Amino acid sequence: MQHSGLSYWERESFMDLDIAIVGGGIVGMSVAASIKDRWPQRQVTIIERGCIPYGASTRNAGFACFGSLTEIVSDLDIMGADQARKLLFNRWLGLKITRERLKSYDIGYEDLGGFEIVESSLANSIDRIAEINELVEDFILDYIQLLKATDQPGLRLNDKQHLVSMSQEGQVDTGKLLKALHAYCISIGVEFICGSKVKNFEALHGKTSIHVKDPIRGDLELKALQCVVCTNAFTQKLLPNIKLNPGRGQVLITEPIDGLQFRGNLHIDEGFYYMRNVGDRILFGGGRNLDFDAENTMKLGLNNDIQHQLDQILLKYLRLEEQPKIDIRWSGIMAFGKNKMPIVRLQEDGLIIATKMSGMGIALAGQIGEEVVGIFEENNL
Ligand SMILES: Cc1cc2nc3c(=O)[nH]c(=O)nc-3n(C[C@H](O)[C@H](O)[C@H](O)COP(=O)(O)OP(=O)(O)OC[C@H]3O[C@@H](n4cnc5c(N)ncnc54)[C@H](O)[C@@H]3O)c2cc1C
Repeated sequence: MQHSGLSYWERESFMDLDIAIVGGGIVGMSVAASIKDRWPQRQVTIIERGCIPYGASTRNAGFACFGSLTEIVSDLDIMGADQARKLLFNRWLGLKITRERLKSYDIGYEDLGGFEIVESSLANSIDRIAEINELVEDFILDYIQLLKATDQPGLRLNDKQHLVSMSQEGQVDTGKLLKALHAYCISIGVEFICGSKVKNFEALHGKTSIHVKDPIRGDLELKALQCVVCTNAFTQKLLPNIKLNPGRGQVLITEPIDGLQFRGNLHIDEGFYYMRNVGDRILFGGGRNLDFDAENTMKLGLNNDIQHQLDQILLKYLRLEEQPKIDIRWSGIMAFGKNKMPIVRLQEDGLIIATKMSGMGIALAGQIGEEVVGIFEENNL
C-alpha cells in the first residue's frame, strides 16, 4: 500500500485552481484585485515563494511618481513621444486606480511633491520642459516647473545646477501600502498560498500544470484554468524566453535627523539616484549605474563601493551639519529591458505575463491589473 502525499480533502479542495497568479508583489496583488473586482465569482489564488513578498515591492523607496525631467527626456529620445506619453499616462492612471482602491486604508500617502536637481551635464533638459508639459497636459497640467534654488532650503545646489518640480508627485509608506493591498485582496476573497516556489509550468489539456515546491510536502502539482505570471525580475528563471535584465537597487535609511528641512522626493541623474524624507529620516538609494555589470543580478545583497558612494553624495545634495547615522541598508531587485514599457501579454502556451516594471511598479501596478482584465475579456478566458 502506498501512502499518498496528499489527503483526499487536499486533492479535492486545494489542487485545482481557477485563476493562479504567480508572485505576490504589488503587481500580482493588483492583478488579483482587478480580476476579482471584475468577476467576484471567480476563484483567484496567489502563489508566492516568500512568507511575505521577496523582490522589489516591500523593499522600494515609496515614490508615488510618474517620471522626472531628465528621465523623461531620456525616454523621449529612446522610445519616441507616443510611447513615452503612454508610459506616463499609464503610471498616472495606475496610481489613481491604486489610491482609489485603497482609499479606506492607510497607505501613508503624503502629497509632499517631487523635485529634481538637474546637473549641469544634463542642463539641456531644461529646454524640453515645454515639450513635456504639452505632451501630458490632458492629464497633468503644468507638470514640470523650473524653481529657484531657494525654494527648497534643505537642498544644497551650486549655481550650475537647476531645480525643477514635478506636480502631483507624492510618497507612500511602502509597508503600509503592501499590507493594505493584501488586506483588500483578502476582503474580496483572493486566496494566498505563501512559502511555495513555482518551479515550472506545463500546458495540459486546456489547463496549466504548475509545479510547486512546498517546503514540507516537497513537489506538488497544482492545475489552473488560467495562470498569470507576475514575478518581475525573476520571470527569466521560470520562463527563459522572456528577455529582461534584473537590476539591483540599493537603499539606506538614516536615523532621525534633528532639524531636517527637506520634505518630499528628490530625483537626481535620470532617476539613477533617489532621495526622500521618511518623517525626520532620509531614505537614499541608487547608484546602479556605477557598476551595471555587478548590479545586473537577481541576488539581494550590498555592493560596498556603491554604498560608500551613497554615503558620500548624501551630503552633496542635502544641507546637513554632519554625516547622519545610518539605520538600515538593504536592496531589492527590479526588472529592465531595452525600453521601459512593461511586458503584458498572452502567450501561445496560454500563460499571461505581466512583468518588467522598469523601477516604477508602485505607479504602474493598478493599470497593469486592468490591462490583464482586458486580456481576459478579449480572449474570453
Ligand atoms: C530599491 C528599490 C527602490 C524602488 N523605488 C521605487 C519607487 O520609489 N517607486 C516605484 O514606483 N517603484 C520603485 N521601485 C520599483 C518597484 O518596487 C517595482 O517596480 C515593483 O515592486 C515591482 O512589483 P512586482 O510585483 O512586479 O515585482 P516584485 O515585487 O519583485 O514581486 C515579484 C514576486 O514574485 C515572487 N516570486 C518570484 N519567483 C517566484 C516563484 N518562482 N514562485 C513564486 N513566487 C515567486 C517574489 O518572491 C516576489 O514577491 C523600486 C525598486 C527597488 C528595488
